[in-house]
Amino acid sequence: MDRNKGIPSSLTAYRVQRELDLGPVGIVLATVNGDISWCNDKALALLGLTRGEVEGTQVPESLHRLRNEATGQFRITCVHRPLQTSIMLFGLCMASGLGETYYLVDAESLGSGIDHLARRESVWNLALESAGHGVWEFDYTRPIQTQGFFSDEWRRMRGLAIGPESSAVEGEWIDRVHPDDKARALELLRQQDEGETKEFSFEYRERCADGHYIWVLARGRVTGLNPQGKPIHVVGTDIDITAIKQAEAGRAEAQASLYRQHLSQLEAAKREAELNAFRESIWRQAVGGAGHGVWSYTIDYSTPTPSTTVIFASDEWFKIRGASTSSHELHDFDVWVSRIHPDDLDYVLRCTNRQMSGEVREVSFEYRERHAAGHWVWILARGTSADFDDNGRPTRIIGIDIDISSVKAEEERRAEEAGKTYRQHLAVLQKANLEAEEARREAQYLARTDVATGLPNRRMFREKVDELLAQNKIFSVFLIDLDHFKEVNDLHGHAAGDHVLRHSATRLREAVSEDGFVARLGGDEFGAVLVHDDKLSPQRLQLAASRIVSSVSRPLELADLLLNVGASIGASSFPSDAQDYDTLLQHADLALYSVKAGERGQLAFYSAAMGEETRQKAQLEADLRIAIEQEHIEPWFQPILSAGLAAPNKLEILARWHHPKWGSVPPDKFIEVAEHIGMLPQLTASVLRKSCEHARLWPAIGLSMNISAREACDPATPLRILETLNQCQFPPHLLDVEVTEHALIKDLDAARQVVAALRSVGITVYIDDFGEGYSGIGYLRELVIDGIKIDRSCVKDICNNEQAAVFLKSLLLMANALGCKTVAEGIETLDVWQKAKEIGVDFGQGYFFAKPMPASEVGRFLQISPEIASGRVLAFSRP
Ligand code: C2E
Ligand code: CA
Ligand code: CA
Repeated sequence: MDRNKGIPSSLTAYRVQRELDLGPVGIVLATVNGDISWCNDKALALLGLTRGEVEGTQVPESLHRLRNEATGQFRITCVHRPLQTSIMLFGLCMASGLGETYYLVDAESLGSGIDHLARRESVWNLALESAGHGVWEFDYTRPIQTQGFFSDEWRRMRGLAIGPESSAVEGEWIDRVHPDDKARALELLRQQDEGETKEFSFEYRERCADGHYIWVLARGRVTGLNPQGKPIHVVGTDIDITAIKQAEAGRAEAQASLYRQHLSQLEAAKREAELNAFRESIWRQAVGGAGHGVWSYTIDYSTPTPSTTVIFASDEWFKIRGASTSSHELHDFDVWVSRIHPDDLDYVLRCTNRQMSGEVREVSFEYRERHAAGHWVWILARGTSADFDDNGRPTRIIGIDIDISSVKAEEERRAEEAGKTYRQHLAVLQKANLEAEEARREAQYLARTDVATGLPNRRMFREKVDELLAQNKIFSVFLIDLDHFKEVNDLHGHAAGDHVLRHSATRLREAVSEDGFVARLGGDEFGAVLVHDDKLSPQRLQLAASRIVSSVSRPLELADLLLNVGASIGASSFPSDAQDYDTLLQHADLALYSVKAGERGQLAFYSAAMGEETRQKAQLEADLRIAIEQEHIEPWFQPILSAGLAAPNKLEILARWHHPKWGSVPPDKFIEVAEHIGMLPQLTASVLRKSCEHARLWPAIGLSMNISAREACDPATPLRILETLNQCQFPPHLLDVEVTEHALIKDLDAARQVVAALRSVGITVYIDDFGEGYSGIGYLRELVIDGIKIDRSCVKDICNNEQAAVFLKSLLLMANALGCKTVAEGIETLDVWQKAKEIGVDFGQGYFFAKPMPASEVGRFLQISPEIASGRVLAFSRP
């Protein structure tokens, strides 16, 4: 897969691509055949694959489920290579006629969503499910359609489908609540929304999928609040209590029917009484036979307070009370009152008063009266006003008493039993809740801990740093990146990798000790915090920081291996460098970046300049991308003259970039950046093609091009160069390629093959900057080469330093012996040129002849070059 092919042609498009690479979403594009055509860096990181592994391959198996199960949201588990642990991904696959697009997100990056996803199958959930509890959870920080989580048992209760397809629960919960329970449900929701309740327990009826209602006991707890105190996270359990409710209802029904039975008897009695108020004896007989006590009394209003006289009480009436029928004192109203249970007295008097005052015609009340044996008898009394005076006040009241003690006893027994069941149920519930809480705590611990090292993970790290920020503590954050972790993993296996992680974790923890804390932030990245207070002076901070450095750079022993891992560390401090977590980490990251760019040892503290440097670098990269795309980089040419002919033999191609804002950017600098952004091959081809096109005007003059160390070790380079030559119809034997020593140091074998391939098609190959650092000589033994370009440092002093001349001479001797041609670089004066020729160089190059010039001036130079070479005309300079 060629990264460059996908590069858009405008700055905006380029920025979009960078955003895609840096953003949280991994994107994989595949053709209709399922071949990956492009993916961003994030996707590689999430899948734990390298670009090489993805190149030209099919969509990885881990993503097939996404494709097969069509568009939707899925959890998949992939092996994240540097970690060798599985991570939870959220995936989405969109297919169209053009192919498929996969979107992947690290579930942990969704923040509090972790409980929602990774812990969904977690212990607490299972524990509750197996106890027949439906579990639910609301996370209001998430998009509306994914806020609610409902366990399988929760669905089963309601007759809803179970499985991955049943993501949504149809309709609103409140719409399913029974109309009679709705008002209470709404009130509960309101209280919760207002933050008035943190915990609730609620019995209500809910409509199931098939339309029937179940009784639900819902218990919930708010587990997360936003700064305004409004809930953002609520969890709870539902239990189906329909069976319990039905049993309760059954008991109530039994009581009610007993009661109704009595009532209907009473009704009958009453009707009888009304039919024949004067034939009381018949009536008495009738109801007396049914086991009811019958009574009647008259009320006389002529006295200051109305006086009552019992005119009749049946035998049953006395029997109920355990009294003998001759106990006439019981006929006295006050005596009767004195026998009523004190707790019921008020109620009984209220009832009788309402009747005596004429307010109601009938009363019915239950109360306790003392039995002759001392215990209490429950009586259901029912009175009806039978005669009235002119004012509508009753003058005679007739009634019956029923002994309902047995009904009451049964009622009490059942209430007691129901209470017991309820208490038992409550105990089970409380235990389940306790277990759930424990499991939840464990899940939360797991969600905040890195399993491999036992250190806090990124999430907990953030929480801890946020805590320090809230307390306004002064502290420094360290980002620690292990340097050669990937090699250890690749060379010695993952067990060795894990060993390194664990030991680095232990050492870091020791180094930081009680001055702060350590966390594993991901792959081979650790984070540490040192809190500076009175205890930690600037000097001690430096000391602690260097303890961190040395703790991770000591070699680690593993069996008989000595693993040299080492680390780069970037640090930033609160409050001097940043005010919030994100900026603190960004700054520490910048510092880390500068360490990795090899600019400042192993540890760097953030400085404001770093931000500016990085920004400039990013700008330069962006602009260079466009310049290469649009072929704004121009070849300039510097002649190489032959000593014998004193005429130009070759022109060295030197790339030039004129930046619209910064002017001319030195080639060393932009070549390195082009290499870094992977665009050097494109630049090389463009500059070579332009040069070949110009060279048509300068027949018989050869060209000499430079290739970077990396290109010199890339087996594709010879083919690329040949393709360009072919396009321009430029003969390979007129081209020289200059390879720097660095390529040979980098990978001698690879460079040897590239050199051989170039030479095999007639291209001449030189080693550039030869003698710079005196290290190149050895390589002449190692590979077959056509010539060497001797570095300016070995040439410039030959006129005034005998030793330098001797050294150059010995270089030439050696080159000649190996059959290599020689070019002396950096010829700045006629003297040096003459001395160099005298010593025996084949060619010369330098400001004495000409500085690098644009193509437009080469023609003029070629005309006067013989004069220049002989010294008759001083150096060629541009008008
Ligand atoms: P180099 O290959 O050693 O190129 C020669 C450099 O020496 C050029 O610098 C040239 O301007 C400078 N130079 C030539 N004569 C004299 C002299 O008499 N005195 C002094 N002091 N300097 C002299 P330039 O153009 O700045 O290029 C720097 C380096 O950038 C080149 O070093 C080469 O390694 C690299 N470079 C330039 N163009 C390309 C390119 O298209 N591709 C690659 N891969 N590298 C390039
Ligand atoms: Ca060169
Ligand atoms: Ca050179």
